[in-house]
Amino acid sequence: MPPPVFRFAPSPNGYLHLGHAFSALSNFGLARRTGGRFLLRIEDIDATRCKPEFEDAIYQDLGWLGIAWETPVRRQSGHLADYRDALETLTAQGLVYPSFESRAEIARLVAQKDAEAPWPRDPDGAPLYPGTARWLSLDERARLLQSDMPHALRLDMAAACARAGDLTWTEDGEGPEGETGTVTARPGAWGDVVLARKETPTSYHLAVVIDDALQGVTEVVRGQDLFWSTSVHRLLQALLGLPQPVYRHHRLILDGSERKLSKSTEATGLRELRAGGVTPVEIRRRVGLP
Ligand code: GLU
Repeated sequence: MPPPVFRFAPSPNGYLHLGHAFSALSNFGLARRTGGRFLLRIEDIDATRCKPEFEDAIYQDLGWLGIAWETPVRRQSGHLADYRDALETLTAQGLVYPSFESRAEIARLVAQKDAEAPWPRDPDGAPLYPGTARWLSLDERARLLQSDMPHALRLDMAAACARAGDLTWTEDGEGPEGETGTVTARPGAWGDVVLARKETPTSYHLAVVIDDALQGVTEVVRGQDLFWSTSVHRLLQALLGLPQPVYRHHRLILDGSERKLSKSTEATGLRELRAGGVTPVEIRRRVGLP
């Protein structure tokens, strides 16, 4: 049996905090205990928010925690062609369409719908796509594309679900409501998700699925905040004929007021803690690791 492959996949859009430490140490520890491999992946698709200094800090902070990873590190920004190929495969299946509303227009449409009846939200709490671009005539679509109008490429969720059929995943960890074992994927809860935009040529969902497959990742160990994203990941894996890893979602590290940590919370930032004299052993203790 080939060894299991784990990965920690941070986005360099801020400094790492205790939550990242927990996730990285959990992955690294599991890889060590199972004779597995540990990969680090830099998810730097969003060029507007990712910065080289945050990426440098990731290497420093993880090294300080005693974590070692294989090189070269995969940086998503260097592999845009892989994501483009996947998008083309989905497009060829007739599952992708362009939508042309601006963010402001979408907000206005949602407010309008909400005034009639609460418009559905996705598992992250964001409103589902309220637009009608899927029903544009081919001529109208071609005209808008030719006019160079900014657009997003969306997954036709209903068609995608119909094509993929029922899907499940194996959960070795736990979802927010204790879901574990064989979990039924509910991709429809996300609506017509964006797969690419003009300024970001792939979405998180598409890139993560392609990378996990290309890197041979067999165990996805990550925070419970991404639990229901797995529904979309399973759908894309099925549509693209990719293998499915086992998932192990872990508890989140919360701040004193029981809120999820954010990258801007200085009190729990690894650099601040290090500068304040906290040791890696103390970090393990604070996140509840032996
Ligand atoms: N890049 C994502 C994040 O920083 C994590 C992706 C994943 O583990 O699937 O939240």
